[in-house]
Amino acid sequence: MKTILTRLVGVLLCASTLPVVAADDGITLAIAGGRLIDGYGGTPLPDSVILVAGDRIAAIGLEGELAIPDAVPVVDANGMTVMPGLIDLHVHFDIIGHGDYPHWFSNYENRMRSDIIPAAAKIMLHSGVTSVRDLGTDISNAFWLREEINSGRMQGPRPFIAGPFLRKSTTPFVSKDFVDTWVVENPRDARDKVRQLVEMGVDLIKTQDEELSFEELQAIYDEAHRLGMPVATHLFSQHALRTALEAGLGSGDTIEHVGEGRQPAYPDDIVDMIIEQDVYLAPTIIAEEGIRQLYLNPEFLDHPDWRRYVPADLYEDIMASYENLQRHPLFGRAVLGRDGKIAKLRQLHAAGGNFILASDSGTRGNPHFAAAWREMYFLVREVGLTEMEAIMAGTSEAARILRQRDLGAIAEGKLADIIVVDGDPLMDIGAMRNVARVIKDGRVVR
Ligand SMILES: [Zn+2]
Repeated sequence: MKTILTRLVGVLLCASTLPVVAADDGITLAIAGGRLIDGYGGTPLPDSVILVAGDRIAAIGLEGELAIPDAVPVVDANGMTVMPGLIDLHVHFDIIGHGDYPHWFSNYENRMRSDIIPAAAKIMLHSGVTSVRDLGTDISNAFWLREEINSGRMQGPRPFIAGPFLRKSTTPFVSKDFVDTWVVENPRDARDKVRQLVEMGVDLIKTQDEELSFEELQAIYDEAHRLGMPVATHLFSQHALRTALEAGLGSGDTIEHVGEGRQPAYPDDIVDMIIEQDVYLAPTIIAEEGIRQLYLNPEFLDHPDWRRYVPADLYEDIMASYENLQRHPLFGRAVLGRDGKIAKLRQLHAAGGNFILASDSGTRGNPHFAAAWREMYFLVREVGLTEMEAIMAGTSEAARILRQRDLGAIAEGKLADIIVVDGDPLMDIGAMRNVARVIKDGRVVR
């Protein structure tokens, strides 16, 4: 109320110079008083006003200069930061931080649509993530959740979904025998399968490239690019990475889990190809770091958001899965593999590599409510990105990978996906944990 009164006084005092927006311009919401970070890396705007009309941003200005029409609801962002909603390019809707995948999928497959996916969707949105790429949920549940969210029946971030992994072998990897897989027989089959997935309506192509041949990879990448689809590649070995890059992994494609392995550096040719071919880097640091953090800071298990929107029995089972942390299958990799991974990420950052926000949200030790902000935190604290670079990784840069011009920035005409953060993430990236308000499609959802 105070904010509205202040604004009215402002209007009265300098009415003659104001570019007054008439109420019939359809303004439906204003966000006023916050320090605005645009997502493009521009100088933050203090005491900003954003006017929203329907689902779009209609105007941006300064308090006292841009008037808010009467009777328009105002989100008070005084003392806080206003920025684009986060875009997390690697999440999982079907797991919510349980430590044991085989146990999870053998017990709860029948509760995906009733309990698990809705809980994951809601907590991600409430943590400030307004768009995501899901890289694991089985195809029928993935199409279902995209429709539920986009139609407004389920609250959640705007989902972009991958189909099944295109792979060479049916052998389960990382104990994920539940992961949807299509086996590629040969290069011609690879092209057919890419076309089939695109016809089914996926938003990107996902490969698990470790064993695919050069010719098969070339066919997948070429067909995907021809059809306007980005490719997310999931690979660990340097040999597989080199093969993928030589086979044409290209502009706007992503390397998921980049940096894995204990070697302290990538060979120069790999780094050069990543940069020259404009391939983006999706480090998913928190996917393993989450387990290490549970060991270092077990009180994280007491965080109340673990149980938010999650049925009590699932919550109890998640807690029980961390009772023997040092015997967890990921524990050794999280501790021993860490230095090599961080060193390679620093190497890529120093070489000018492009990072995007990709948290592997929902995986073991990596609950959705803390995934995005913790990934950004480690990108800054460990890899050396500036706070602004980390924010762009989760806004404008991520939107580029989604090929969505309407997302990832606060600018006139863009979709009004906006968050209000209590604190200044440019001073302390850890402030990203304090998301106070969330606006998606012009509607206040938190
Ligand atoms: Zn993942």
